[in-house]
Amino acid sequence: MQPSLDSLLRASLRTFAPYKPGTSVDEVRRRFGIAQPVKLSQNENPLGTSPRALAALRAIESLGDYVEDDHLLLRERLARPYGLTIDNVVLGHGSNELLALAFLAFVEPGEEIVIADPTFSLFRKDAQVAGARAVAVPLRDGVHDLEAMLRAVTPRTKLVFVCDPNNPTGTRVERDALAAFAEALRPDVLLVLDQAYREFMDEGGADGVDVLRRRPATLVLRTASKIYGLASVRFGYGYSSPEVIGWLNRVRLPFNVARPAAVAVLAALDDDEFIARSRESNARGKAQLMAAFERLGVHAYPSAANFVAVEVPCGADDAYAALLERGVIVRSGDGLGMPGRLRVSIGTESENAAFVAALEALLPVWRGHAVGAGNRA
Ligand code: PMP
Repeated sequence: MQPSLDSLLRASLRTFAPYKPGTSVDEVRRRFGIAQPVKLSQNENPLGTSPRALAALRAIESLGDYVEDDHLLLRERLARPYGLTIDNVVLGHGSNELLALAFLAFVEPGEEIVIADPTFSLFRKDAQVAGARAVAVPLRDGVHDLEAMLRAVTPRTKLVFVCDPNNPTGTRVERDALAAFAEALRPDVLLVLDQAYREFMDEGGADGVDVLRRRPATLVLRTASKIYGLASVRFGYGYSSPEVIGWLNRVRLPFNVARPAAVAVLAALDDDEFIARSRESNARGKAQLMAAFERLGVHAYPSAANFVAVEVPCGADDAYAALLERGVIVRSGDGLGMPGRLRVSIGTESENAAFVAALEALLPVWRGHAVGAGNRA
């Protein structure tokens, strides 16, 4: 018998499961023989990728040299709309990398972070990797309870996360409430505003950069993975004060943003047509889904993002499995800290319709009065 290798692994990681991105399209094809599953599980852009980004990618002539690590043009382009400078911008291999860097730079084992419950699962995972304690504050009516989060801050707190809009609920906080919260928070706690879905918000939504202007220990995270349709190139960016940006740069790997990512994002940022079309498609899709939920009598939180959190009258894992069999891939809320709900990405009109048709067919079964069910008694 081989001796166990368990002692090799850091103790804090022994109960740790890898991030599960949800069921793949290939797996559904294989398991259920469905040629074209509808994937509404990863909050991607159903219109694909910015055509300008694709054209820029096709025009790349060489990948033989290292990309210039300072990415001056790109950081300048990201800073400009806000009147910020390149020293306010950090780039990452997805915004997920920047989250990890914040832990690496700021959090010692035994220190604390404050998060909502439920919120984006990586906050807790990263805390575990860092050996830190995640203090989770339940949402109130599906929204961050900012007052309770403030009360959860202790002298050991290093990071406080507000995911706005929040994954998995899709809800957003009010701009004034966020401003008051940011002001009340101890100035040496880093407020991380994960705004991966910011571009889908309505006018009433908060812009994290407004918070940053008043509070230097603020890190606003954004991504190219959602509205720009560039999840595969892995690109995220953060705005903060030069001090915080400098510290994050100190711990990141050199060349963490690959040339294809930089080239694609620079083009996508100016693709106004694609951005507008994506926003309109999302708004239409959201209205389509919300109208269907109302007609079918199922509750969904008001969404500020490109996904919705809808209630089902049965176990979320069961609902997820039944939809999967019909070729519709969603996320079960059970694994996301949101039992009794599904997280459904807003797709194209026909993808949304396919989901609604499957939901409509399954609801009577879940509610226990399927046609004919009474006859079996
Ligand atoms: N933040 C949140 C809240 C998300 O939901 C996601 C998408 N899963 C990300 C960040 C991921 O961003 P990226 O692809 O830029 O790493």
